[in-house]
Amino acid sequence: MHTFMSGSATAHRSQPVRTGRAPGAHKRRAGAGRPPHVVIVGGGFAGLAAAQALASAPVDVTLIDRCNHHLFQPLLYQVATAALSPSDIASPIRSVLRDQANATVLLDEVIDVDTEWRRVITRDGAEATYDYLILATGAEYSYFGHDDDWARYAVGLKSLEDATEIRARLLMAFEKAEAECDAASQNKMLTFVLIGAGPTGVEMAGAVAELAKATLARDFRRIDPRNARIILIEAGPRVLPGFRPELSAYAHSTLDRMGVDIRLHTTIDDITSDGVIARGRVIEAATIVWCAGVKATPAGRWLNRATSRNGAIEVKADLSIPGLPEVFAIGDLAHRLGADGKPLPGLAAVAKQEGNYVGTVIAANVRNSPLPAAFSYRDRGTLATIGRSAAVADFGWLRLKGRTAWLLWGFVHILFLIGFRNRALVFINWVWAWLTSTRGARLIIAGRAHKQR
Ligand SMILES: Cc1cc2nc3c(=O)[nH]c(=O)nc-3n(C[C@H](O)[C@H](O)[C@H](O)COP(=O)(O)OP(=O)(O)OC[C@H]3O[C@@H](n4cnc5c(N)ncnc54)[C@H](O)[C@@H]3O)c2cc1C
Repeated sequence: MHTFMSGSATAHRSQPVRTGRAPGAHKRRAGAGRPPHVVIVGGGFAGLAAAQALASAPVDVTLIDRCNHHLFQPLLYQVATAALSPSDIASPIRSVLRDQANATVLLDEVIDVDTEWRRVITRDGAEATYDYLILATGAEYSYFGHDDDWARYAVGLKSLEDATEIRARLLMAFEKAEAECDAASQNKMLTFVLIGAGPTGVEMAGAVAELAKATLARDFRRIDPRNARIILIEAGPRVLPGFRPELSAYAHSTLDRMGVDIRLHTTIDDITSDGVIARGRVIEAATIVWCAGVKATPAGRWLNRATSRNGAIEVKADLSIPGLPEVFAIGDLAHRLGADGKPLPGLAAVAKQEGNYVGTVIAANVRNSPLPAAFSYRDRGTLATIGRSAAVADFGWLRLKGRTAWLLWGFVHILFLIGFRNRALVFINWVWAWLTSTRGARLIIAGRAHKQR
């Protein structure tokens, strides 16, 4: 069993050591010559920002993630639709924090937290004792109570594994249709259903339409990929419900022009191996992608604390957890109301700002300097892309749509990618795709779809 001791930031193979302390003990430990130990669970936007905000603080940081990479989720749909490769949008967490001397990275999955003894417990049996704990484990897909039966037919888009699985299913559908003689089966293979018309559903629908109607158009002999049906299902009254109605209307008409069949006010009754049953009607489809609800990862259960309806942990104004001043929840895992009285949205910008804020709170705490004011989110606007030269942007005071919004969307996403290599690769891929309408990552390599042949 590994034990990560406070302040040592090195793994030891030993029996678990109990180091329970009363609140405030971190100050005594610091006085005893050992820097306080900050354990961060999750190296996504929130956890990484927190670690980086602690770079010059007199603390030891241990960041634990079950993946070895930080993932830029906003571009996952481009991996799922063969425009980018997995490595273009992910960076090893270890290399991101290479130059931060006070940070150690541990590849492991946290399965529980013992708040009495201030330690986190991991799947590999390691224990990390902490003086401060930052939980930043994000969200996962929720199938509205059908996780067991729907998830295997309708893949959600959250990880690189999901993206390569969806890519394999999409590309395999065209391959199977080409080999199929029966027209009904061919139609089923060439029907793609996307459930949920938020930003991910809209981006996926536009990208699948471009894949079928442009990229693959001339590559097959027995089928015409341009006949593919792309169906976008939404329970609500409009696509992009988080955006203003005029931007939703623009997205709707653009998708319409691209040949996407949009079905609003449509709820899902069931998902099976044959397709989707929506409002009592069967839609036969071989490829179904889930872009609908999300829920927080189960960290709330570890702490036995109040959570919102989607499992996010309720936090105080300083993003600490009520009754646990040394434990913070940030990013998609945290439930906090914004200035408008609504919960803060699940956005990378919220996660980054919260991570940065908690880092400064902890740094101020260990230095005994004044604490920053309560966290408040600075909304710098939201963007969503629809397809080639079409996007929407809402900055509150300014709303853009079309090519200007699309160029801005591209610029912002390249800017926020981590590392020069990824920025350069994504930029080159985009320019090449724009000039040639090709997609460079048309590989069927994920496990399940390949084995189903
Ligand atoms: C397809 C998609 C598109 C999106 N598009 C946009 C967009 O265009 N703009 C935007 O602002 N936002 C977008 N988002 C939302 C944005 O990505 C999230 O709000 C953001 O990632 C939240 O950051 P986080 O750090 O809270 O969680 P995450 O980034 O999800 O990071 C959580 C980390 O915790 C790790 N983890 C989870 N559980 C454990 C555990 N038990 N033990 C150890 N490690 C664990 C995970 O491996 C992961 O690295 C999109 C999300 C998705 C899925």
